[in-house]
Amino acid sequence: MRKRPIVAIDGPSGAGKSTISKLLAQRLGFAHIDTGAMYRCVALAALRRGIDPGDEGALGALGLALHIDFRRVDGEQRVFLDGEDVSAAIRTPEVSLLTSKVSSVARVRENLVELQRRMGERGGVVLEGRDIGTVVFPGAEAKFFLTASARERGRRRYLELRDKGLEVDLETTIAEVEERDAADSSRRHSPLIQAADAVLIDSTGLSIEQVVDRMEAVVASCDKGQEAG
Ligand code: C5P
Repeated sequence: MRKRPIVAIDGPSGAGKSTISKLLAQRLGFAHIDTGAMYRCVALAALRRGIDPGDEGALGALGLALHIDFRRVDGEQRVFLDGEDVSAAIRTPEVSLLTSKVSSVARVRENLVELQRRMGERGGVVLEGRDIGTVVFPGAEAKFFLTASARERGRRRYLELRDKGLEVDLETTIAEVEERDAADSSRRHSPLIQAADAVLIDSTGLSIEQVVDRMEAVVASCDKGQEAG
């Protein structure tokens, strides 16, 4: 039987990847894998266990020892770390900052990439992250690079955190977004770069619906291409 497409959505933080990936997966009837949540789980576990962020050996071993999975609870996708729902705990600014460090460790990446490949290989899946179209699934049928201006992305993150009741400051949040961008783009292992064959979408002036519509049209056209081929 023909494999259903793999959809890769990469881009910097705050570009709208999570909302858009979730909606696109719903429309297509595909599974949704938030790979950032997986890196966040490793950071949360490191924080809880008091592991030094500079200790690459301990972080690499930790990535192997953890059990991370996604489950639907009351129609919502939640992320579980060793059986505990950590969907909220992984979103604090403290975990966000540590995640950038943890995700630059080669062994952590190798372990998570392998897990992501196993989760997505059957197709019918939308994966969002930083290296999906370049490293995890370079052969993905549809690839997108979703971005927006740094100010706009910082503003969105600020509103998101504030809605969750966290005390945050706009300028600090923008600075943190820029800091994470710089770390993600300059790291040695799997830096954030646009795959040559990815469709670039700048969401700065676009609504969520407009972005999802565009993506859906691209996926539909690559699906037709597969049928013809
Ligand atoms: O997407 P999200 O903002 O939740 O990702 C958190 C962090 O995880 C990113 O800043 C990045 O450092 C890391 N990440 C990564 N590779 C991925 C997904 C996320 O390095 N595929």
